[in-house]
Amino acid sequence: MIAEVIVDISNNSVDKIFDYIAPDNCLVGCSVLVPFGKRTLLGFVLRMKDSSDFSDSLKSIIKVISRKPLLKSEIIDLSFYMAKTFYLRMNDCLKLMVPNNHREGKSLAVFDYILSLTCSIDEAINKIGKRAKKQIEAVVFLSDNGPQKQSVLNKLFSSQVVNELKAKGLLSIESERIFRLNEVKQNLESPKILNEEQTRAVKAILSNKDNTFLLFGVTGSGKTEVYLNIIKSVLDDGKNAIMLVPEISLTPLMVDRFKKRFGSVIAVLHSGLNEGERYDEWERIYSNKARVIIGARSAIFAPVSNLGAIIIDEEHDSSYISESNPRFDTHVIADFRARYNHCPLILGSATPKLSTYKLALDGKYKLLELKSRVNDLKMPEIEIVDMTEELRQGNTSILSAKLQDGLIECKNSNKQAIIFLNRRGYASFQMCKKCGYIAKCEDCAVSLVYHKQENVLKCHFCGKKYRVLDLCPNCGSDKIKLGSIGTEQVVDILKEQFKIPVFRMDNDSTRTKDSHKKILEEFSKTSPSILVGTQMIAKGHDFPLVNFVGILDADISLYTSDYTSAENTFQLVTQVAGRAGRKSSGAKVVLQTYTPNHYVYQFAKNYDYLGFYKKESNLRETTNFPPYAQIIRILISSENREICINSTKELLDECKEVKEKYKDKFIFLQAMPAPIKRIKTKYRFQIILRFFNNLEIEGEIAKIQDRVIKGVSIFLELNPTSIR
Ligand code: ADP
Ligand code: ZN
Ligand code: ZN
Repeated sequence: MIAEVIVDISNNSVDKIFDYIAPDNCLVGCSVLVPFGKRTLLGFVLRMKDSSDFSDSLKSIIKVISRKPLLKSEIIDLSFYMAKTFYLRMNDCLKLMVPNNHREGKSLAVFDYILSLTCSIDEAINKIGKRAKKQIEAVVFLSDNGPQKQSVLNKLFSSQVVNELKAKGLLSIESERIFRLNEVKQNLESPKILNEEQTRAVKAILSNKDNTFLLFGVTGSGKTEVYLNIIKSVLDDGKNAIMLVPEISLTPLMVDRFKKRFGSVIAVLHSGLNEGERYDEWERIYSNKARVIIGARSAIFAPVSNLGAIIIDEEHDSSYISESNPRFDTHVIADFRARYNHCPLILGSATPKLSTYKLALDGKYKLLELKSRVNDLKMPEIEIVDMTEELRQGNTSILSAKLQDGLIECKNSNKQAIIFLNRRGYASFQMCKKCGYIAKCEDCAVSLVYHKQENVLKCHFCGKKYRVLDLCPNCGSDKIKLGSIGTEQVVDILKEQFKIPVFRMDNDSTRTKDSHKKILEEFSKTSPSILVGTQMIAKGHDFPLVNFVGILDADISLYTSDYTSAENTFQLVTQVAGRAGRKSSGAKVVLQTYTPNHYVYQFAKNYDYLGFYKKESNLRETTNFPPYAQIIRILISSENREICINSTKELLDECKEVKEKYKDKFIFLQAMPAPIKRIKTKYRFQIILRFFNNLEIEGEIAKIQDRVIKGVSIFLELNPTSIR
């Protein structure tokens, strides 16, 4: 037989199928070792056939690495589709589908051994002899209690005793696979009785399965409860489900909620797992032991067959778009799998992406609404505070009077508060008051962030650390000033002023494994208390005691140059506000801004998604931005500035040719330095193209990224929502 193989080289000229002579044990989907030029490389078998056009010069597969096919046929089809849709290399796509250890044939499986008696208890005692008391105790225990795990017997009677019994041939041994994360929760929880809106949503989904649904429900309206119901029905049908959440390590409580409902059929996949855990979860999914997969975006590639539903919770979240190679949009992948399995794809959000909502209005998605919170709880009242006015009143604190009142009330009533600020560290920079010198990273064109606890200046782009400035290296002055306040400083201020426990959740406080979980558990157990955090705390948490939310400097995300900045800010404000008052009434939100009249805040204040949608969508349509047009950014980066500039010029010329061809379709074409001109010693330039929706232009421009220029990397983004 002949195997068609994709070899593991990430190089456009090699990213095609090669034929090899296959041994008998070679199956479609297996990983294999093949000769390639002078090298030996890993590869995946994607098809088998009887003959090849190149039969004279064919080489043989050296070895079949995986005993079973790692890629199921759906996953192979998906990989082809993904490579084509996002202009990716097949090899890069395939690598997303299978963990490295599996691909390389390394087993991380752990086993326990089940030991049982090989003969009757009397015979056993005879063989042991009366003096070995411990050994007799052990065989009596086995005879009374039946087969036991070796780890249990070792603990009870010592490994020496167990080994002696083995040596005497009294124990038969069977191995049993242990799965690292698979602890079973004993008390399963029974489902809640759904309210009318929830019932209607569930019915609509189950009666019209081969469709995409937008479950548009305000925060706390019981969307998760709808998901749980759908999944229950999927399991009853003997099928499986994927449930995606923005970043699962942020929401351990969500996993608990699912485990309580469904027990051991849950698997989780996210970046917080170690290699062994990931290995086991993948195996459990592959072998159908786990049937509900909860995970972050990469869980959409889970090796699960027979899908009965795919759910994308908080579908607006930017984490569903992979920003680095291989770049993809999870929605598109999910849509492929849902249609492949003829099962529902459910997109849930209180603040759907503009493009998603448009598809619902256009009738491409079915719109389901949950208009009110569970038990008719009111949405928390959002108060907008003008910070220029605060200054005028003589308040120089970063906390407005209203916000301080809110925290005092929260403390007095023994409740909890969440304070949101999307800037981590202690202060955004250190600057010399005398000459204006600002500490910058040597390798990146950005200023360094001051971290007080670690007592360093940190580059948030490459991670490099520098000494804190005592004296200005430029003029020698010791008058050093700090930039804008970050989460670390907010914690200090709050602790000092309110004298209650303050927790912090951001990229810095959550470096170690399970740290998210620990912080959230501590917080949920402590009242009164305050949780300070970046956008991490906006995502899907359900804390019953939180009755106050403060948003400091909401403007950070509003005044970026991205076309989605208004949309992002609306989502963020609504989501953060939605953490308050989920179980009791009277919750409040204070939002601090320097532009209180901005339409984003006015719509957010009234929870008027539709109003915001109309305004923003109108703006996009009249100014020709997505979803009414397409943006492509080509990012060109190189260690050498001159080469970078020259390559950018060359590529721009190629873009200009495409523009000539489709003149009336183009809105914008320009090359320029990227907003951040240098990252990790690489200079960065960009070409921005904007044109009316057109797949042919997209395809022609995408070909440009196949160009190989030595020392230069070229990266293409479709409708990027954050350009840096
Ligand atoms: P969402 O996902 O829309 O933010 P959740 O599903 O987390 O909302 O629901 C908010 C809270 O209300 C949760 O604590 C949940 O347990 C509870 N809840 C949801 N649906 C019901 C129901 N039908 N009856 C009682 N409580 C419910
Ligand atoms: Zn100076
Ligand atoms: Zn740096």
